[in-house]
Amino acid sequence: MLNVHSIIQRQRSFFAGGKTKQVEFRLEQLAKLKQSVKDREKQIIKALKQDLNKSEFESYATEIGFLYEEINMMMKHLRSWAKPEKVKTPMTHIGASSYIYPEPYGLTLIIAPWNYPFQLQLAPLVGAMAAGNCAVLKPSELTPNVSALLSELVQSTFEEEYIAVVEGGVEASQALLEEKFDYIFFTGSVAVGRIVMQAAAKHLTPVTLELGGKSPTIVDEDANLEITAKRIAWGKFTNAGQTCVAPDYLLIHKKVKEQFIRLFQTYINEFYGENPLESDQYTRIVSERHFKRLAGFLENGTAVIGGNTNAEKLMIAPTLLDGVTWDSPVMQDEIFGPILPMMEFSTLDEAIGHVQHSPNPLALYYFSESTEKQERILQSIRFGGGCMNDTLMHLANPNLPFGGVGNSGIGSYHGKSSFEVFSHQKSVLKQTTKLDPPFRYPSFKHGLSMMKKIFK
Ligand code: NAD
Repeated sequence: MLNVHSIIQRQRSFFAGGKTKQVEFRLEQLAKLKQSVKDREKQIIKALKQDLNKSEFESYATEIGFLYEEINMMMKHLRSWAKPEKVKTPMTHIGASSYIYPEPYGLTLIIAPWNYPFQLQLAPLVGAMAAGNCAVLKPSELTPNVSALLSELVQSTFEEEYIAVVEGGVEASQALLEEKFDYIFFTGSVAVGRIVMQAAAKHLTPVTLELGGKSPTIVDEDANLEITAKRIAWGKFTNAGQTCVAPDYLLIHKKVKEQFIRLFQTYINEFYGENPLESDQYTRIVSERHFKRLAGFLENGTAVIGGNTNAEKLMIAPTLLDGVTWDSPVMQDEIFGPILPMMEFSTLDEAIGHVQHSPNPLALYYFSESTEKQERILQSIRFGGGCMNDTLMHLANPNLPFGGVGNSGIGSYHGKSSFEVFSHQKSVLKQTTKLDPPFRYPSFKHGLSMMKKIFK
């Protein structure tokens, strides 16, 4: 059904031609990518509205603007990042100098999910191109308008032998995973991440897995509650909670719970009005299957805020769920929707203990004015990345590598890390033939005693 094999063969021979090794070529292609996105801003916003009811504001901030920042940073630094780096050489290697050459892997496969369907496909591509690779992109089938637009954008900007898009669902993904790539970059669920890693193992292909998980949000008794409620409402309900690093659940100190609920309601109203289900600023749920899965969670507790839905429009109001326990179904897997279950704690140790017993999350957010307690959180819990007194913002700093740990993923990207993740570090020692000290050779009389003096 798919001409996947022939695309890959053509990309192999294009890569072998060496054009992508030239930094000038890479810079030209990145500029072309940026221009193609600029030319299509209206269509991108329209496709995101059709597929997810994303507002123009969110589409620009989280999909288009974000991508421009990645391209700009890459273009600014590429010449220096792509240069071989001279490193120190020990005295034992007298006469030699040592270098690290960043080198493209070759053919890369980039598989994307549906929640930020544009940005999560193209931001890794920026890294792949900057590092000098060819790429095959596989957008999500659940956002068909964005998928079609990505295909059109790539086809009209690049030769297929350099960058190609293969649209389709699981079968398309599986057909691609049968092939040998030199690097696979996958963003999606933990379950599919396992499938991707198994497929990659057959060819010993290295992988980056950008996965998800249940990201805890802990609000302590000394938090600045106004700002806390505002930033959690923003981080949770952006994209209707369908964000890999969205606050998944809330652990709240029991002394501040009532006040938090009041403030949380205030900010939800401020952002999305009295009836968020009618708001054009509020994203819908991607599919009926996900809508039903999420609506089921509303039975797991009492909605102290929200709880109403519109099945026809696939919308669920921003919801704060009380009366939830660690055993509730909503606490078993990543929620990935606008429902925030809330549980109380009395001491920070109690909150830390609960989180330590859960799989390593992709993100963690802690709200407290105490730097000592912030440090305690950082020292005792393993998580991909996160914020103190904020949500989501760490991923928008290109100087912070973005990725998970344990169950939430392998590897990281953004900014310089995007260049590094798609580059092999080739280590090279350049030796002179003018000298040849005898110490290393077996015939040298005092070899052993010299070795013992050097390596002690
Ligand atoms: P998904 O794993 O269902 O799908 C991701 C991609 O894999 C899609 O392109 C899909 O077509 C493909 N796929 C699905 N089933 C497959 C199979 N059996 N074999 C091969 N390929 C298959 O994920 P999703 O529902 O699109 O996205 C939601 C998940 O992604 C959440 O868990 C979320 O946390 C995670 N996510 C992570 C990040 C991150 O940066 N870490 C970002 C966004 C989303």
